[in-house]
Amino acid sequence: MYYAITTSLLLLLIPATSFLLTPPHSPSHTLRSTKSLDFEAIRESVDSLPSPPPLDPTYDVFCNRELNMNSLAAIGFDMDYTLAQYHVPEFDNLAFDGAKQKLVDMGYPEEVLKFTYEPSKWIRGLIIDIKRGNFLKIDKHKYTRVAYHGSQEMSSEARKALYAQTFNKKDSFGESYYINMDTLFQIVDAELYSQLIDLKDSEDSEYEFLDGKTYEEMYRDARACVDLCHRDGVIKDEVAKNPSKYVVKDPNMVPMLKQYKEKGIKVFLVTNSLWTYTQDVMSYLVDPSDTESGDWTDLFDLIIVGSCKPAFLVDPRRDLFRVDKQTGQLTNTDGVYEIAALNPNGATKFLEQGNVYQNGNFNQLAAMLDLDGKAITGEQILYVGDHLYSDVLRSKRTLGWRTALIVPELEEEMKTTESQKDTSSTILKLRKLRESISVKSNALRLAPDTPENSAQLESLETSDRQIKEALVDIVGAHHKAYNPIWGQLFKAGYEDSRFAYYTANYACLYMTKASNLRFVSDQRAFRTFNTPPPHANTNTDEQ
Ligand SMILES: [Mg+2]
Repeated sequence: MYYAITTSLLLLLIPATSFLLTPPHSPSHTLRSTKSLDFEAIRESVDSLPSPPPLDPTYDVFCNRELNMNSLAAIGFDMDYTLAQYHVPEFDNLAFDGAKQKLVDMGYPEEVLKFTYEPSKWIRGLIIDIKRGNFLKIDKHKYTRVAYHGSQEMSSEARKALYAQTFNKKDSFGESYYINMDTLFQIVDAELYSQLIDLKDSEDSEYEFLDGKTYEEMYRDARACVDLCHRDGVIKDEVAKNPSKYVVKDPNMVPMLKQYKEKGIKVFLVTNSLWTYTQDVMSYLVDPSDTESGDWTDLFDLIIVGSCKPAFLVDPRRDLFRVDKQTGQLTNTDGVYEIAALNPNGATKFLEQGNVYQNGNFNQLAAMLDLDGKAITGEQILYVGDHLYSDVLRSKRTLGWRTALIVPELEEEMKTTESQKDTSSTILKLRKLRESISVKSNALRLAPDTPENSAQLESLETSDRQIKEALVDIVGAHHKAYNPIWGQLFKAGYEDSRFAYYTANYACLYMTKASNLRFVSDQRAFRTFNTPPPHANTNTDEQ
């Protein structure tokens, strides 16, 4: 489950305004018994204060795990799809079209060049079974809810035969032939791979080349071609030439970064992109007038490019190189040993020689973030990224960092949820009605077998069937309202999706874009309001 931090005035203002009712000099300040507190009076006082300007809910920050911003010593950011959002489909088409050409160069049929990119067919959080050419949406219990082979929906029998968990089939979706779609970059891979599968399977095509390829080999080829586009200039040269076509400018990003830096919180960037691309994108996002020296790197205490996450977060042996900002040339450093040798204030002296680095690892980052001689602990770092595994799961599980996941898709998802409110309510009411029918039917089945009981039971069973049929239609339309194929990002059937499960477990916070943190002060305390477990749920609200 995931829980929204609402913009409720009451919750926002209680910490800041409690002094109005119990000033420090008042005798009541020492009272600890709740009997002495007049909560209604506090509520009225809070309610009487002016409301903050209404915030579009898509600018909100949502909380899965309690987090007090004033406990943070550093905030770090990923770049791609975190600080830098991209125009879709323009940006994705660079990789899609570039990879098509590379596939043809490898021997794939010319037909591949006719593929067109349709990102709306995809959502993040899916699993690709590259051994069989299938795309799966699973819930938090690893039950496969929706399955496609290429662009063809699989029958429920085929889906269950392949993916239902039995004692004989122990696939955990952790095997190497299952690929998790944890970043928006992979939507290009999925679309390209899906069309290759269709081409291989099509009855009227006879491509010997494809006959000789397994589904897994086709995936690996597509992945390699897309990856090459990210490295050989197909993408980066175009973005450098025409950044406004591909990169989304966000007016709140620079103020957000400055806001935390001015409060004494260290601000850093850790990106897998290399220096030249990072420089191209960030110098477009940050106007020279935004910083005193005209250089975007001033906004950060520390920048690490080419970080190779997740290796950066788990491998302590990776060397750290200093990047010359003018030439891009790398020089060796001794990282943590050099900082220790420069002590006292080794980190400051080290960063005075340059604040842009490549490669490295989490230990060197912690040493460079050294605050007044005291190394920062994992709990004092908030890392903001879009990659469910590399940025969020790995940093939380390995290093105990606090984490924030960027979910640009959430904006559309929230709008659909709003427009589907009545439908959601109807579905819930009908499900609760089925539960009541089940309870009453159960009692009748346990009661003496009389003609009257039998008639009542039959009537209940008929009603249940009718409601079940109605639900199939309503739920189907509800699912399609989000995405015609995969439905809701955060739900799979009535359960949380795998994406929702990992978000809830590993992302302390999540939001549509990193700049939403502009509306979060360095003193904000995020709280969760968990739903009680079924046995303790005393909520009688029918909704
Ligand atoms: Mg990223």
